[in-house]
Amino acid sequence: MEGIGIVGAGVAGLHLALYLQQHNVPVTLYAEKTAEQQREGRLPNTAAHWGNTRVRERELGVNHWDGLLDGKFGNFCFHFYIGIDPPLIFRGDFIEPGITIDQRIYLARLLEDFEERGGKVVIGSLQASDLEPLSEQHDLVVVSSGRGSLTQLFPRMPERSPYTQPQRLICTGIYHGVPQREPIGVGLHISPGHGELFEMPYWTFDGAQMALFFELVPGGGMERLMQVRYEEDPKGFESTVLDVLKEHFPSTYERLNRAEIGVALPQDVLQGSITPTVRRAYTRLENGKYVLAMGDVHVVNDPLMGQGANAASHAAFVVGQAILEDNLAFDERWCRRTEARLWDFVGDVTEWNNYMLQVPMPLNVVQLLLAASQNKAVADVFADNFRRPGRNWDILASPERTIAFLHQYGSEAPLLSAGEPAAAGE
Ligand SMILES: Cc1cc2nc3c(=O)[nH]c(=O)nc-3n(C[C@H](O)[C@H](O)[C@H](O)COP(=O)(O)OP(=O)(O)OC[C@H]3O[C@@H](n4cnc5c(N)ncnc54)[C@H](O)[C@@H]3O)c2cc1C
Repeated sequence: MEGIGIVGAGVAGLHLALYLQQHNVPVTLYAEKTAEQQREGRLPNTAAHWGNTRVRERELGVNHWDGLLDGKFGNFCFHFYIGIDPPLIFRGDFIEPGITIDQRIYLARLLEDFEERGGKVVIGSLQASDLEPLSEQHDLVVVSSGRGSLTQLFPRMPERSPYTQPQRLICTGIYHGVPQREPIGVGLHISPGHGELFEMPYWTFDGAQMALFFELVPGGGMERLMQVRYEEDPKGFESTVLDVLKEHFPSTYERLNRAEIGVALPQDVLQGSITPTVRRAYTRLENGKYVLAMGDVHVVNDPLMGQGANAASHAAFVVGQAILEDNLAFDERWCRRTEARLWDFVGDVTEWNNYMLQVPMPLNVVQLLLAASQNKAVADVFADNFRRPGRNWDILASPERTIAFLHQYGSEAPLLSAGEPAAAGE
């Protein structure tokens, strides 16, 4: 038997492969693309890595971009803009900075790291029918192939998947002509009832640029951004971006260098949508072997709170530790226990994220944001908790929790009733 087989070389698969390699567990990584093909591809996402993931990157020895965090690049805070009248504009600082590296560069480099350290990589796209022969070859097969067709192997869990349709339409891209903010950080803008915009310092092929990541409420006033496809009408797309910024995010629009604003490279735009889905984390193949799902295969969330890659990295460490702790048999018992450990973290991420997708915004979210706009300590905790998402869910999981949290920080929860204020949306 050839140790562990990992299908898919995204954050989940690569972090697990590097973790097992570091602990001398034999591992084969089945990657769809070579490092070169990865670099040449279309923008796959615009995923920020928060402080918790950066700790794991240091542990794996793949923190190649830490040198950029010298004050000139990185995610050191959130600049919040809540588009009510008058707008709420405030900042929340991170204790541990995050960073956003183009995933084409990041994944390619980690694949090279794994190979240079002696790791075995097999290139090619696997089909569901390949898993049975693979499971005969390996002690355990872990499927970490993202949102592709292999997800179908793992049944959807309706009790953990409240939505059956996308709650946002996604339009993200890399742009020039968008100046960095001071201090350098992520702009988190909300246009109540219409969607959100994340303005992110983004490290790509020619260095520091900005990603503009729009989350559009279906049927809301920004949906027109999805009606024009960048590939078909680049100029029309760019002028729609400007229109939407002007109408919904005026503080960003006013900062733009309008003579320069434009998509960096033709393959740097991604438009689509995701139905948040939790799947069973394991399945039994016809030959009686079990395979485990990890990362987006197991739980795919809308990227609203920017947690998928971070959760995928966390999952890799959970699975790696479970393999080291008990390798007597990778049977149903092992899979069930590992799934419970995975859900312990990603369950909070999922519930928090799904809560934040609601339109109009839940009243305790509005209360938290109003309090954060008046109390910097509240804003700092909410911002820094992006590296500890369970703590933000601790604060928001019920109105009582939010009130108790605000009291701890010397803030009164603003009294609101359903339908008010405008910040709640609609
Ligand atoms: C617009 C956008 C913004 C986002 N922003 C954030 C953010 O700020 N922070 C955050 O944490 N997350 C964010 N996410 C989510 C994050 O990108 C994903 O959750 C994360 O990439 C999941 O990692 P993964 O390893 O599970 O899957 P993936 O990253 O999808 O990797 C899967 C890999 O498997 C390969 N593969 C696919 N099919 C096969 C096959 N059949 N055989 C072999 N290989 C295969 C693919 O080529 C790919 O390399 C964002 C997502 C989007 C779309």
